[in-house]
Amino acid sequence: MSHFMRTDGSYQHRRSTTRVLALLAAMVFALNLPAPARAEWFKSEQAVMGTSIAVQLWHTDADFADACIAAVMSEMHRIDAAMSPYKESSELSKVNREAARFPVAASKELFDLIARSLEMSERSGGAFDITYASVGRMYDYRARKKPGNAEIETALKAVNYHHIKLDRARGTIRFTHPGVYIDLGGIAKGHAVDRGISLLRERGIRHALVSAGGDSRILGDRRGRPWFTGIKDPRNPQRAPVVLPLSDTAISTSGDYERYFIEDGVRYHHIINPGTGRSARAARSVTVLGPDATTTDALSTTLFVLGPEKALKLADTMPEIDAIIIDSNGTMHYSSGLEPPAKQ
Ligand code: AMP
Ligand code: MG
Repeated sequence: MSHFMRTDGSYQHRRSTTRVLALLAAMVFALNLPAPARAEWFKSEQAVMGTSIAVQLWHTDADFADACIAAVMSEMHRIDAAMSPYKESSELSKVNREAARFPVAASKELFDLIARSLEMSERSGGAFDITYASVGRMYDYRARKKPGNAEIETALKAVNYHHIKLDRARGTIRFTHPGVYIDLGGIAKGHAVDRGISLLRERGIRHALVSAGGDSRILGDRRGRPWFTGIKDPRNPQRAPVVLPLSDTAISTSGDYERYFIEDGVRYHHIINPGTGRSARAARSVTVLGPDATTTDALSTTLFVLGPEKALKLADTMPEIDAIIIDSNGTMHYSSGLEPPAKQ
């Protein structure tokens, strides 16, 4: 197991005691058991939700495996159709069009995801705020477009999660301020990954990985071995200097290298500090490990905005969460549940 601690950058996941122990148990187990006849890994990758969706699972029956993968992919399309801010026909777009004028009835799924977003806003003092989009929608990273100072100042008045009112009894959403736009880009991929894993579990799958861009969830392990997930070097994303052995966990990374452009030496990227209406500056990447991908997705974005000090403080109040933060100087910080590799 020396490879767990191979490089300077490698971390052993201490609080994952259960995860690491489960892993060891599985390894021992695997040594004693013959592999089931003709079982194998099935994989598929598709572009959905503006990102790459990957599903890998272990099964003996190719037709069944294909059907499982198809079910996950169609779930991804369903969620995209409901929650995309870019599709006029999405439920989210309807809310954005109407909720400043009157309460809009929402599906339980959308209502619940917005409710979870508001909880994260409360917990983070507003670092996570889906109304960031009131100003965030004025950026177009591909077109290298950003709002001017005056535009930001005006739009910022609409950025405040308190402008969102949920009525649980009626299942409605209302905005109490004009110009409010919401976007679930910081949490919906994690939700989609969790839905994918649920579908696989319901079908009896015990070893799988579902990922949507930077958000992944692992069911079981890799048949007696861990999955190895790399944390990219934010300034050279082809390289992954840190490798984490993982099983039965969710992992999300938010980075300033995912959607960005550079102008006059300044990096304009897609994670917005709701206080300023500008790209958050205190980190280059944040990786969060936790029990489910909805939580790790929202938290990776949140901790990115908070910056290392406040981020680690918040992470350490959450017993099931671990975090690895690469700050604006490239220095790595990690939550107290993680241990640096032992010196060799
Ligand atoms: P992630 O890659 O998970 O960190 O998500 C980044 C996405 O979250 C962005 O593309 C936006 O859609 C959304 N986002 C950006 N800033 C915030 C924020 N402060 N609070 C909530 N969502 C945000
Ligand atoms: Mg995220």
